[in-house]
Amino acid sequence: MRRITVLGATGSIGESTLDVVKRHPGRYAVHALTAHRQVDKLAALCREFRPAHAVVGTAEAAGELEALLKAAGVKTEIGYGEAALEAVAVDPAADSVMAAIVGAAGLRPTLAAARAGKRVLLANKEALVMSGRIFMDAVREHGATLLPIDSEHNAIFQCLPPEDPRYRAGVAKIVLTASGGPFRTRDPATLHDISPDEACAHPNWVMGRKISVDSATMMNKGLEVIEAHWLFAAPADRIEVLIHPQSIVHSMVAYADGSVLAQLGNPDMRTPIAYGLAYPERTHAGVSPLDLARAGALTFETPDLERFPCLGLAFDALRAGGVAPAILNAANEVAVEAFLQGRVRFTDIARIVAGVLEQASEGSADTLDGVLAADRDARRRAGALLDSAASC
Ligand code: NAD
Ligand code: MG
Repeated sequence: MRRITVLGATGSIGESTLDVVKRHPGRYAVHALTAHRQVDKLAALCREFRPAHAVVGTAEAAGELEALLKAAGVKTEIGYGEAALEAVAVDPAADSVMAAIVGAAGLRPTLAAARAGKRVLLANKEALVMSGRIFMDAVREHGATLLPIDSEHNAIFQCLPPEDPRYRAGVAKIVLTASGGPFRTRDPATLHDISPDEACAHPNWVMGRKISVDSATMMNKGLEVIEAHWLFAAPADRIEVLIHPQSIVHSMVAYADGSVLAQLGNPDMRTPIAYGLAYPERTHAGVSPLDLARAGALTFETPDLERFPCLGLAFDALRAGGVAPAILNAANEVAVEAFLQGRVRFTDIARIVAGVLEQASEGSADTLDGVLAADRDARRRAGALLDSAASC
């Protein structure tokens, strides 16, 4: 029986994870669940899964959760704040941690789980984007098992040969597919008028609002390029992005001999989640079987970097190295949040990220303090650019 902690249990990935867990009652038990503010939803999950621990963001939220659980006769121990989050991430009573908190907030607990040698199911790509070297070193040094949950990286993980230099030398390219989001064919002249709800209406996937906006700008693919660089030790020029609007081919690996291996499936995150939970076994995920005859034509095209400047910015940050990816990520988080609040336009997101990246970026990515200092500094600079964008 695997004992699982779900960080970010109330989110889209958290929900899909618990859906898979529920399908295999003899195989998985839930050890801890965490959420930021969604107390009612977390209380419902605690009633259903009876975890030993639950963690929320604030003392106030913890008080609310306690009252709800007491009324329901649920004996889950409740904690709050960063320290409690890290404590459940390293708790020896659990062997697997699903890292599904959105954004930089997921970095510390995810890294803590790696340092505790857990089986880490990584959905939170921001942790790798910000501190890829530190994170991968922690996985190696502490004997953690890292299983990529992002659908593209999970696909690549499935298509790569075993991790032996003799076999990996034959890999020519990693090809990340991208749906192109909701604005792939929209007239670029109208992009500045897009509303948050339009940006979040992804054609193929149902996801949290931040990653949905990232998909619309293709910053999500940019973050995934950086994620792939760290996960698979691939230099930037060996990573290619290909638009595939049907989201059936989840990514590919091209080999020196001309072979290309791809992983296919319906666009449903329960497939990579079930794979990560059961690895190396395969189990049911509740996903309907892929019907290729019904899917019809699968098409591919090269992304247009003028339409999607965020993708180019992410490649630039990866090539610049050091703290540049952490700066890119922080500026993007600030800009996306401001867009979701209606404070800036859709097209300001790329402008703000580019503006922050253009300013000198000192700092070392060798220590967590260095990365977090770069993150703070970039947020401050993005905030200043926001004010000027908002007043335009
Ligand atoms: P979401 O917004 O639906 O859920 C986020 C979760 O994180 C919630 O449980 C929320 O309570 C928690 N959270 C938010 N802010 C927090 C904070 N400051 N401290 C602690 N917890 C906090 O997001 P999602 O779509 O489930 O995405 C989660 C992660 O998985 C992201 O990093 C995203 O890039 C990645 N991912 C998601 C998908 C998808 O299909 N949704 C696919 C691939 C990767
Ligand atoms: Mg993805």
